[in-house]
Amino acid sequence: MKLNTSDLVVVTGAGGFIGGHLVSELRRRGHTRVRAVDCKPFDEWYQRFDDVDNRVLDLRDAKACETTARESRYIFNLAADMGGMGFIEMNKAACMLTVLINTHMLMAARSAGTERFFYSSSACVYAAEKQTSADVQPLREEDAYPAMPEDGYGWEKLFSERMCRHFTEDFGLTTRMARYHNVYGPHGTYDGGREKAPAAICRKVIQAQRSRSNEIEIWGDGEQTRSFTYIDDCLEGTLRLTESDVTEPINIGSDQLVSINQLVDIVESIAGVKLRRRYKLDAPKGVRGRNSDNTLIKQRLEWAPSVSLEDGMRKTYEWIHQQMTTTGQRILA
Ligand code: NAD
Repeated sequence: MKLNTSDLVVVTGAGGFIGGHLVSELRRRGHTRVRAVDCKPFDEWYQRFDDVDNRVLDLRDAKACETTARESRYIFNLAADMGGMGFIEMNKAACMLTVLINTHMLMAARSAGTERFFYSSSACVYAAEKQTSADVQPLREEDAYPAMPEDGYGWEKLFSERMCRHFTEDFGLTTRMARYHNVYGPHGTYDGGREKAPAAICRKVIQAQRSRSNEIEIWGDGEQTRSFTYIDDCLEGTLRLTESDVTEPINIGSDQLVSINQLVDIVESIAGVKLRRRYKLDAPKGVRGRNSDNTLIKQRLEWAPSVSLEDGMRKTYEWIHQQMTTTGQRILA
């Protein structure tokens, strides 16, 4: 099934990182009716387009969700109160309250007769016991059960996946669920407490150079491993999945596994510096190792993420560098 470019498509969380890129990509693909919704004031949206129906609404509220979903054919629900490890470990109740957004959006989609509903889940749904080693076995979709996801944020994602599934089974609403693995790229959060490792490391390297401290603080011992997915792959996967007939949750993630130390090596080589590393062992670190198993996505979508971390990080670094230069701020760590 192909999304019809003249039908109304709603993107929630459109003022955020992935949502902003998705609105941009839908326009690029010829969609003429896009409604973009976020609770942040317009001047805080990472990307905003004048030819789009932009709205500021708090989607924890059921009425706001009804307004958002009205007459929509497709909904991409990306709104969530979230951030990197530093945020989700300290804000579990706020993360869990995002359940209101997905629940009310599903109810609103059902009432509006929406044809397809996309839900952005996360690799944080995977069971902790499968992620205890840095040399981790890549996570297959069935590894989410028996359930022991990330406390707070991961439980909410797993619950909301199930809510999508039951809306499909009981009410016939077509839903698609992606488990994103650490998405990064330009036009995202790089400071303020919600940033994730790739953006945080770019910022810290730039700050270390500018302040001439030549030192970088790393959370944990730096040997914890992850895979990082470039935004272009995330968008391609999201749109392919939405158009597909895959009804179960599926990984959208790179399978290029690196340690945080290796990620710092990559950013140092982009920046042309070598910094002293100071390890903050009591900082939030998350699981020891996490990677995406892409067997299912290759089988079902005949596609998998392919942008290399080196290429993606170069573009991310350049954008953050330019932001920090034009705003002329945030020199101190
Ligand atoms: P983001 O924080 O940049 O964007 C989320 C947006 O949702 C924000 O702009 C925020 O203002 C908005 N929002 C929060 N509460 C809202 C509310 N009550 N009403 C309306 N809008 C609200 O995050 P992102 O990285 O773009 O993530 C998008 C989605 O993908 C989220 O659901 C997230 O959980 C999921 N995800 C992201 C990653 C990643 O690495 N970026 C990984 C896994 C899953």
